[in-house]
Amino acid sequence: MKSRHSGSHGPSAPGEVELLRLIRRRAQGSKTAELRLGIGDDCAILRPRAGEEIVVTTDLSLEGRHFRLDTHPPESVGHRALARGLSDLAAMGARPLAAFLSLAVPPELTVRNQGGKSWTERFYDGLFALAKVHKTPLAGGDLAQFPQVVADITLVGAVRKVRALLRSGALPGDLIYVTGKLGGAAAGLRILNEHDGFQDAVPAELSEILKPHLYPKPRIGQGKWLARYGAWWAALGTCISAMDLSDGLSIDLARLCEESGVAAEIDEAALPIAHGATLDEALHGGEDYELLFTAPADKKLPRKISDVPITRIGRVLPQETRRKSARRPRVTLLTGSGSVPLEPKGWQHFSRQS
Ligand SMILES: [Mg+2]
Repeated sequence: MKSRHSGSHGPSAPGEVELLRLIRRRAQGSKTAELRLGIGDDCAILRPRAGEEIVVTTDLSLEGRHFRLDTHPPESVGHRALARGLSDLAAMGARPLAAFLSLAVPPELTVRNQGGKSWTERFYDGLFALAKVHKTPLAGGDLAQFPQVVADITLVGAVRKVRALLRSGALPGDLIYVTGKLGGAAAGLRILNEHDGFQDAVPAELSEILKPHLYPKPRIGQGKWLARYGAWWAALGTCISAMDLSDGLSIDLARLCEESGVAAEIDEAALPIAHGATLDEALHGGEDYELLFTAPADKKLPRKISDVPITRIGRVLPQETRRKSARRPRVTLLTGSGSVPLEPKGWQHFSRQS
């Protein structure tokens, strides 16, 4: 963990040296056998088990784009920064080996309030709490001063050789499933914005609705389960494809179809819509971080994997060859009054301002 200071902000904020010490001490508490060397040297050293492949993913969390200082608790910002990366590992069926975080914060956010914690300490509280759940050590990173908060996280994971779940494995006839509920994160964000971030205490009846947005749960256990069973089925010539729902079902399913060269149809009535969410939020809302996966129709899946419900929401169809160049939607929604094309309307990075 290094610390850099931009010239325009002068010397480091009073709490920063102590902060670095605190981060290092807390990171040491999360060390694992596979992290041979963590924070303190020029590089971390990882030693995965024999017969494993390494998977790597990075994610940016930007103030004003992915969160707001005036509406999101700092613990939630830290939690979500790590959750985004862990969810990508889950989508591959990998287990986490280490996280690396480069964090830029305005100097005033490293200063403690009277007797309390600084924003940055509370950010790390949220990050370390989720890291503990998934046994993910913080193995390095960077800390810098900058006028806005930027959190750039890298997750390194391991998966048994050739067992990683890919987006490209869906075949016509396969069934489409999701873990958990859909639209909860979008509903939570809507409520958060409607109440301007709850400057006073959050009413008890709303706190549950906010959770999927503020504290999403990456599906690491479910991804590992799918990779294990997928490998077993692969011996029989069948396959599981998977991805995580970060941008919204409509756009993410279209991406999976694209990678697999297939089309898909979704049953509106089958969608597991989260409490308080609308159909639109379930179809197009992003950041649910549930897993979207396909499996052969003759393979029976449990109703739950590690206590998280699994719901069948549709099926994979062959891609019509005449559509290949037509750029028509690959995904169809079956409603009570017939079928309609499901236009991808999820969160497309850099395509709109928010
Ligand atoms: Mg992803």
